[in-house]
Amino acid sequence: MDLKENYTAIKNQLPSGVQLVAVSKTHPVEAVQEVYDLGQKVFGENKVQELMEKYPLLPKDIEWHLIGHLQTNKVKYIAPFIDTIQSVDSEKLLAEISKEAGKNSRTIKVLLQVKIAAEESKFGLEIDEAKLLFQKYIDGGFPNIEITGLMGMATFTEDEEQVRGEFSVLKGLFDELTQLKTLETLSMGMSDDFPAAIECGANSVRVGSAIFGRRDYSK
Ligand SMILES: *Cc1c(COP(=O)(O)O)cnc(C)c1O
Repeated sequence: MDLKENYTAIKNQLPSGVQLVAVSKTHPVEAVQEVYDLGQKVFGENKVQELMEKYPLLPKDIEWHLIGHLQTNKVKYIAPFIDTIQSVDSEKLLAEISKEAGKNSRTIKVLLQVKIAAEESKFGLEIDEAKLLFQKYIDGGFPNIEITGLMGMATFTEDEEQVRGEFSVLKGLFDELTQLKTLETLSMGMSDDFPAAIECGANSVRVGSAIFGRRDYSK
């Protein structure tokens, strides 16, 4: 696995202004360090425990993003250092993040995760729930967080038209909400569909296997 070759190839496909979140889940700290040494500063992990294991072993200027489902009772572990939580899917979680951020005298950036896929996925807000939550945020309900954008995952399918349709729905919501309060980040697109996501308006992509190689879950 040539990390440099992979990383460079991905970077070369991203228009300027599109952020790359390198998804390092299941891959060892040595691989993260190697990609960091190539200039990457933003990394994503989907599990609190794995992030807590890696965090102390890696450079402190890494901007960590949590991209997987987060239980409220685990927020306290990452609140001291997490840059962005991309996977906020309930009001309860948003309130807990605000509370723990306050305890650490900091502001944590979050993205609202919105359900756009047709497949029965467990996590993500419905469009209407996301709108309500954003309004509560604007009204001052969560003082120690900053909602900086939206995150979504398209259906896992070969049908590119369907994937683009789903991305476009999230872009529509992004445009609507940003009228109320400016949003910066539209996070959509992974290794297999990031070019389509960018064409549909994504300005942040979460790429794992195309950089680090296949994940081996058997270990
Ligand atoms: C694992 C993961 C990714 C990266 O997936 P790849 O297909 O390996 O690029 C992106 N987003 C989320 C939420 C993930 O869990």
